[in-house]
Amino acid sequence: MSLLEEKSQNTTPISQLGEFGLIDHLTKNIKLKNENTIKGVGDDAAVIDMGDKYQLVSTDLLVEGVHFDLGYMPLKHLGYKSVAVNVSDICAMNGVAKQITVGLAMSNRFTIEALDELYAGIYLACEHYGVDLVGGDTTSSTSGLMISVTVLGEVEKENVVYRSGAKINDLVICTGDLGAAYLGLQLLNREKEMFNENPTMQPDLTGNDYVLKRQLKPEAGVKYITILKDLDIIPTSMIDISDGLSSEVLHLAKSSKVGITIYEDKIPVDYTTMNLANEFNMNPIVCALSGGEDYELLFTISQVHYDKFKKDADFTIVGYVTDASEGNNFIAKDGTSHPLTAQGWDAMKK
Ligand code: ADP
Ligand code: MG
Repeated sequence: MSLLEEKSQNTTPISQLGEFGLIDHLTKNIKLKNENTIKGVGDDAAVIDMGDKYQLVSTDLLVEGVHFDLGYMPLKHLGYKSVAVNVSDICAMNGVAKQITVGLAMSNRFTIEALDELYAGIYLACEHYGVDLVGGDTTSSTSGLMISVTVLGEVEKENVVYRSGAKINDLVICTGDLGAAYLGLQLLNREKEMFNENPTMQPDLTGNDYVLKRQLKPEAGVKYITILKDLDIIPTSMIDISDGLSSEVLHLAKSSKVGITIYEDKIPVDYTTMNLANEFNMNPIVCALSGGEDYELLFTISQVHYDKFKKDADFTIVGYVTDASEGNNFIAKDGTSHPLTAQGWDAMKK
């Protein structure tokens, strides 16, 4: 047996761990060395003590063929989205984004004009979110485009919110609505396939502006962070919904060492999402639970704030926090209870 063969017998495919298992595996032995590293791996952003405030740092990597398809994703939208998804992670810490750096790798099929388009989107997002582009790195790639954005943000020390602070009996609240970005993607995929079969056909995307916008030009939940501040409410825990509601509920529950119960009939889904899901023969609630890329916020608050949220269309109470022993549960419309599983968007397992 050659050395190589011997080695290959002891190797483990990444798929055995999945994305979150892999991160865990790679980072479980980290021992933080610096006193000012307040929070390392495990939340939406790292937290660093800057004296009077906390600095927040987060990175998101978008890869052609995995996270986007340039067949239907305009480069300007891609640039915008790559910034917005990072700002979203700063929102999830109750913070404000201030700077970004941009890492770029591209193959030689990209022209200056194409990259100008990408950067037009990046600059537009920088304007919209009030962040400065302060650096990055540029290199070539043998296979398509990769964009890695790192965002720096800040938050008053007393206002920082982690995934880990949810308390028993807290309300679980979701902003906006869910499932639309996933259905936008299904729609774009369908039109692309039809176009490939018959290139003379014009895509028919009429009446679906909302789901397309949610997929192609998602926004970070900055406005919700402002509303919470105006209401003088600091959530007990928070996360952004990038991988579908179920996955994020499980993250909050695990980090906070509690259980969470959510209700099917409370999950906010826009009527255009609902209609399109029916057209695709999909269950819109499954799209909300497992779809991903909605970039809404999911947070927990004490029940004393119930009155402030019960009638606000921007915020939906989707469930409540229980003791960990009760597990994580999904109560269907017919009243039956089901254990909530992580069918979030686990890219590596797909
Ligand atoms: P989010 O969905 O909020 O972007 P992720 O699920 O991507 O968060 O990451 C979860 C945590 O793991 C974060 O704290 C992130 O910084 C960390 N993380 C992800 N990938 C790596 C890596 N390759 N090395 C070290 N830490 C990582
Ligand atoms: Mg996040």
